[in-house]
Amino acid sequence: MDCRPNCGVCCIAPSITSPIPGMPDGKPAGVRCVQLDAGNRCRLFGRPERPAFCGGLQPSREMCGADTGHAMQWLDRLERLTTPTP
Ligand code: SF4
Ligand code: SF4
Repeated sequence: MDCRPNCGVCCIAPSITSPIPGMPDGKPAGVRCVQLDAGNRCRLFGRPERPAFCGGLQPSREMCGADTGHAMQWLDRLERLTTPTP
């Protein structure tokens, strides 16, 4: 499937541990990436500075669902499942 216009959930919900231009320590879960523009598109798309993590999150029916609420729930769950316990 194609990425849904004006969604941006996968640039907000997950934590990213690698540096992002403007966010040198990456970003915590639930925080909007500074590279997400007002139309919820990535300013770095297709550029080498875009973290490899971002390219690994491909749109899918399972993840994206029919609306942003589904995507937020799915990615929140993924974040919980992949966060190491101290
Ligand atoms: S959750 Fe899916 S539809 Fe939303 S921005 Fe990410 S890839 Fe696109
Ligand atoms: S760098 Fe781009 S694709 Fe990655 S989280 Fe930020 S806005 Fe999203």
